[in-house]
Amino acid sequence: MYFNKDIETMPLKKMKALQLERLKWAVGHAYTNNEFYRKKYDDAGFHPDQLKSLDDMRRVPFLTKQDMRANYPFGLFAVPLDKVIRVHSSSGTTGNATVVGYTRKDIDIFAEVVARCLVAYGASEKDVIQVAYGYGLFTGGLGLHYGAEKVGALTIPISGGNTDRQLMLIKDFGTTMIACTPSYALNIADYIEKKRPDYDMRKTNLKAGILGAEPWSESMRREIEARLGIHAFDIYGLSEIIGPGVSCECFEKSGLHVHEDHFYVEIIDPETGDVLPEGEKGEIVYTTLTKEAFPGIRYRSRDITRLYRDNCTCGRTLVKMEKVTGRSDDMLIIRGVNVFPSQIEQVLMEIEGTEPHYQIILDRKAALDDVEVMVEVNERLFSDEVKVLDDLRKRIGDRFRSVLGISAKITLVEPMTIARSEGKAVRVVDRRKI
Ligand SMILES: [Zn+2]
Repeated sequence: MYFNKDIETMPLKKMKALQLERLKWAVGHAYTNNEFYRKKYDDAGFHPDQLKSLDDMRRVPFLTKQDMRANYPFGLFAVPLDKVIRVHSSSGTTGNATVVGYTRKDIDIFAEVVARCLVAYGASEKDVIQVAYGYGLFTGGLGLHYGAEKVGALTIPISGGNTDRQLMLIKDFGTTMIACTPSYALNIADYIEKKRPDYDMRKTNLKAGILGAEPWSESMRREIEARLGIHAFDIYGLSEIIGPGVSCECFEKSGLHVHEDHFYVEIIDPETGDVLPEGEKGEIVYTTLTKEAFPGIRYRSRDITRLYRDNCTCGRTLVKMEKVTGRSDDMLIIRGVNVFPSQIEQVLMEIEGTEPHYQIILDRKAALDDVEVMVEVNERLFSDEVKVLDDLRKRIGDRFRSVLGISAKITLVEPMTIARSEGKAVRVVDRRKI
């Protein structure tokens, strides 16, 4: 099932022609209507007229997170403010927030790409979609809300948190799909196990989770699917480009189809900035092809993935991106070794007896990085002999050394010891910067 069959199954040649036509418009629009872009391109000796083929995109200067922060709040808008009908914003915990604007047409496109995702997960007007992302400046809540309404589903704007109430509505309203972060989906599973053993998710109508806003691994998917008895689908996006809906999985659950009629994607070498051939892993760079208020031209996402085309059984011809499991911003450099938190999760998931809840604590003593990983383990292990825990601690330590190349102090703790957030999980506490 498709929301927009012509686009989602468009032959590649036709799609490339559409992209080129839209690229010329998008780059010209940014240059003509925004001072920052105009100056940047003039300084680099680039003019939109030089754009004759998709390959010419490599001549266009990059847009960075720093550019966005430097232009806070509205410096990157390319339409007058009276044409902007909504803003969203990043949380801004690491510097100025990034404010993004939408015209009425931009909002329609946002709703359409989310609607395409929901239909790819099997949604129709018969579904009841509970939106448990936060509503507010964050794009997740309203993004999913408008998409669900566009599909014609019954949309429940419950927002995040209050797990008891989430469970009540799933039952009472017959919710079939829930949209939230993957870590919150695991929180729900924990909550049922500890506090609501009477509650059986398998007796509800819930069939799918629409999970995004943080990187998550295949093992986390298996965990969520097994514990909640649902399909766990990845939805990907970033507020700088539009919000959720830039790409989504289909029932294959192997890669996310990019809505490339609206977003042009390239993979670059994060060090040199050179464009890499399709299939190679690197940093994904986005260009919005249709956005009016807040164009993003060659935006460096810092997300590491690869792009490829296969004959997907769902029939979509849209390019696929590999599930993003690391953001180069999230990458930790520990004693000179590059480590992604998702790699730590992967290791833990493969070891029986550990829970998917962990926290990495970094400290620096005597000019050397100290790494401690707190890991929750099965309750029953704590009632066993001390030797069992010692063996487990050793096994985890050995795996970290062989897989990640770092030695870490492993601390095993009982379930529910590590603080849970209702939204995103805090995986890293870095005390080295203080
Ligand atoms: Zn597919």
